[in-house]
Amino acid sequence: MESIMRYSVKTSSANETTTLGQKVGAVLRGTEVFKLKSDLGGGKTTFVKGLANGLGADETVQSPTFIISAQYHCERNLELHHYDFYRLQDLGIMQEQLDESLLSPSVVTVMEWGDSADTTGAKDLIEVTIAKDPVDENARQVTFEVPDVYEYIATTLEGKS
Ligand code: ADP
Ligand code: MG
Repeated sequence: MESIMRYSVKTSSANETTTLGQKVGAVLRGTEVFKLKSDLGGGKTTFVKGLANGLGADETVQSPTFIISAQYHCERNLELHHYDFYRLQDLGIMQEQLDESLLSPSVVTVMEWGDSADTTGAKDLIEVTIAKDPVDENARQVTFEVPDVYEYIATTLEGKS
């Protein structure tokens, strides 16, 4: 039976959230799927910038809000596919593109606003929920829910939470 490990990390600045993403990105192997959740401006894209750094992406991550998806070539023959389905009720043909990402062994898939996406074709999802701090505008609680197939990600997060 699968179990899910939960890790919660507090970051005190956008840079710390990027660094956290970088540490996770550095251990990825392909086929991981991240579903990022937060309010607008919570820090999802900031976290993805870090993931991309850790993966050695060829370009800096921009917010893909107006273009829905962006793909980056990375080191170790990996690719990062970054989706942002903000306000998209129906993914339409984007669902087909997403399915290809989910099935490719060399792709790390990251989704912002992924609730309308069908991810049944994916391996277990890693959920990352970012909560703003009610008092400190530069603080976030970043909570990871990591299925046990991703023990190498859990190892990376251990000791940080
Ligand atoms: P989202 O993709 O969730 O809409 P963004 O990453 O685009 O959010 O924006 C997050 C904003 O919050 C950025 O302007 C970033 O500089 C700011 N910020 C402040 N503190 C943090 C933090 N601890 N982690 C992430 N972002 C932070
Ligand atoms: Mg964003």
